[in-house]
Amino acid sequence: MPLNALQIYKLLPKTNCKECGFPTCLAFAMKLAAKQAELDACPYVSDEAKAALAAASRPPMRLITIGSDEHKIEVGNETELFRHDRAFYHPPGLMVRVEDTQPIEEIEETVSQVDSYSVELVGMTFELNGIAVENASGDASTYVKILKAVRANTDLPLILMAQDPKVMAAALENLGDTVPLIYAATEENWSDMTALAKKHKCPLAVYRADGLNELAGLVKQVEEAGVEDIVLDPGTRGFSDSLSVLTQVRRLALRHNFHLFGYPTITFPAEGASSIEEEALLAGQHIAKYGGFIVLDHFDPAVAYPLTTLRLNIFTDPRVPIQMEPGVYEFGEPTADSPLLTTTNFSLTYFSVAGEIQASGIPSWLLVADAEGMSVLTAWAAGNFDAERVAKDVKRFDVADKISHRKIIIPGFVAVIMGELEEELPGWEVLVGPREAIDIPRYLREIWKA
Ligand code: SF4
Repeated sequence: MPLNALQIYKLLPKTNCKECGFPTCLAFAMKLAAKQAELDACPYVSDEAKAALAAASRPPMRLITIGSDEHKIEVGNETELFRHDRAFYHPPGLMVRVEDTQPIEEIEETVSQVDSYSVELVGMTFELNGIAVENASGDASTYVKILKAVRANTDLPLILMAQDPKVMAAALENLGDTVPLIYAATEENWSDMTALAKKHKCPLAVYRADGLNELAGLVKQVEEAGVEDIVLDPGTRGFSDSLSVLTQVRRLALRHNFHLFGYPTITFPAEGASSIEEEALLAGQHIAKYGGFIVLDHFDPAVAYPLTTLRLNIFTDPRVPIQMEPGVYEFGEPTADSPLLTTTNFSLTYFSVAGEIQASGIPSWLLVADAEGMSVLTAWAAGNFDAERVAKDVKRFDVADKISHRKIIIPGFVAVIMGELEEELPGWEVLVGPREAIDIPRYLREIWKA
């Protein structure tokens, strides 16, 4: 049973030395009870206390990492059942499955497409996360050959899918220094798969489809055999059953501290779908609730784009706007005579303005002011994009050193700050630009004069 804050406090040194980063041992105990701190932060906990506190300090869902340092995926460690309660933190890994019975050219093409898929939007890069390689042939040498071909075309993380421990052993021996997810320990092979997971220090998926009690029992056996990094596959595949079962698993882990389900899940949307479109819809459901690794059977940019966008939306902290770094941005090759515009550091605002400046073809400077990630009108209403703030950033980023004129174009929506800004920036002329970004090209071409 997890301990409450007072029970934890009784086990702490009670010296209030503050080395854990909290003002008192009681404050630290409260954070531990809320699973918002790690026990390691206190250097003075006794071994007895550590043992007693292990259950209380354990995160409700373990973080599972696969891949190498450069291309790793971290999944799990979630603390919320609903995103609106706080946030979801670790986006699910979107993987694409190939089978070792496919022609090798087809596999190489799919792997290369997944590897190179990359879309830039609002300053972020959308990508897929890895390849699942299934041993459909049942043959170890075929599987190893295909794995090598996959590896030659990507450094992305891998899921190795084989039911035969001998095949899995051959694959792991030939894989080099990356850390794959092993799929899967079953009722029949769990002992051998567990030994392989321990030997190669890899996370192990545990599959059991005949009920959650049975799955929990198999997870317990795998845990007791010494595997700490586990991924759950309760075997549900359709829309309704996967929603119901994955929700039960998440609820049991987070709300009831049922530690045997305190791991991320793996899903296979194509296995519950009758078409590629249904696969995409089911993958979307799993992104929202509650897939950890989501293995697609098809690569299609028209599917990858909405799924990665949905994932971004759900796994972005709703309390933190997507922001640009404040500063002075260049478009084209601006000179000392080029126009200087200003806007806020809300990403969507920035990219709307940036796109229109680029479309104008007129080299320009853009001062992106620190408006705490808000759009123009919202920031102005909140006092985050007033004359004082803009003037401060003009000085902070040495804008005057970049231009010979002393003119700054403000968004039309904040024309009211014009007079105040001229007071804050003596010797400057404040020009009121268009309200909408779409009118910027016309403004720069027809109205702007240095
Ligand atoms: Fe208490 Fe340990 Fe924190 Fe010091 S570091 S205040 S002893 S919990």
